[in-house]
Amino acid sequence: MNEKIHEYTEYCLNCPAKPCSQKGCPLNNDIPAFIKEVKEGNIKRAFEILSKTTVLGSICGRICPHMKQCEGNCVRGIKGEPVQIGKIEAYVFDEALKNKWYEDLEKTNELQGKRVAVVGSGPAGLTCSAFLARSGAEVTIYEKYSRVGGILRHGIPEFRLNEEILDKTIEMILSFGIKPIYNKELGVDFSLEDLEKEYDAVFLGFGANISSKMNIPGEDLQGVYGGNELLETKKHPSYKGKKVAVIGGGNVAMDCSRTIKRLGASEVYVIYRRAEKQMPAEAKEIEEAKREGVEFLFQNNIVKILGNNEGKVEKIECIKTELVKKEGETREVPVNIEGSNYEMDIDYVVMAIGSSPEKKLLKKLGLALNEWGYIKTDESGRTSRRKVFAGGDVAGNKSTIAWAARAGRDFAQLGTGLFCASHNNC
Ligand code: SF4
Repeated sequence: MNEKIHEYTEYCLNCPAKPCSQKGCPLNNDIPAFIKEVKEGNIKRAFEILSKTTVLGSICGRICPHMKQCEGNCVRGIKGEPVQIGKIEAYVFDEALKNKWYEDLEKTNELQGKRVAVVGSGPAGLTCSAFLARSGAEVTIYEKYSRVGGILRHGIPEFRLNEEILDKTIEMILSFGIKPIYNKELGVDFSLEDLEKEYDAVFLGFGANISSKMNIPGEDLQGVYGGNELLETKKHPSYKGKKVAVIGGGNVAMDCSRTIKRLGASEVYVIYRRAEKQMPAEAKEIEEAKREGVEFLFQNNIVKILGNNEGKVEKIECIKTELVKKEGETREVPVNIEGSNYEMDIDYVVMAIGSSPEKKLLKKLGLALNEWGYIKTDESGRTSRRKVFAGGDVAGNKSTIAWAARAGRDFAQLGTGLFCASHNNC
């Protein structure tokens, strides 16, 4: 076994309360149990333990915000460094993918005879499909692109997630007997009604990848882009020698700023209205971005984008903020400091302040939405239509890979009880 990995496992205390799993891991992976098996050299057994709760170990092990999840809750982290849970998980899954151990995983026939359509093939759709198929259901994935992977393929840059790892993970998931249908888009090539007629249940996991707007003056100028769209389409302008402002503090802002810097921009500024410690992006992503030359303007806010005569971005106007404690708020709130406005020469602005599902599509589907504009679901993931379930970003779940995967797994394990019960011949 890899010596470094063995060293990491030796450091685990095998805590009976499992805070890393119970409080930290959205999927509740049995972390102490799988680490114990790795420590004893039983890598295949460790994979079997992890496979009870996840199919994305090689991916989550690499790109989950571990310090906000499992490692952030590791007892070892209280006085020192936490156990390197992500690295151990990735190692176990990499070995499993290489040796095709997944071919020996246990399958049940609990859902035999059930046909399920899964729309979207990101973390929610893939996880849902895998667990359904392993329970004997007949699963068809509908994917709008020519390859499966959703946001994992069209939203996370290659420098963070190697395509080979993703391809191998997908090879495993499809090997459970899932049928992918490519280049077919919901609302364009088929309707929800079509799926309802043909399947026992439909799971919508097509994500929320439309960048939110700030509604500030100048946002419609040429040279203003949505961060999610840039990462999804990879259709970038030429950044060579240009100055770019990325607005926001999450992982999309980090991925955009690092991508743009690598594509040759001379200066890339991340503008974030709160303090560094409040950034939703993980510390290691922020450090990487800094190391690669991205500059951070914390406690600064953009208020206006100014254009030239041709309607192209030329400058931005920013304002400094201070953090103020306000009643009823759990954290300090950024407040603009009057008179602290200043201008910066900028060629491109990238909005990465959040995202939402495609409104036109949601309107076509006619499903009830919640107050934030996501598909409204009950605890089981069921939408306002009996046979239709939704999970992950499209239902407004916390937007991380592991939380989306959890929503997919929950439907496969809990929602299926409901769709069976709602189906007369069950
Ligand atoms: Fe091991 Fe840390 Fe989990 Fe304890 S909290 S079992 S030390 S990984």
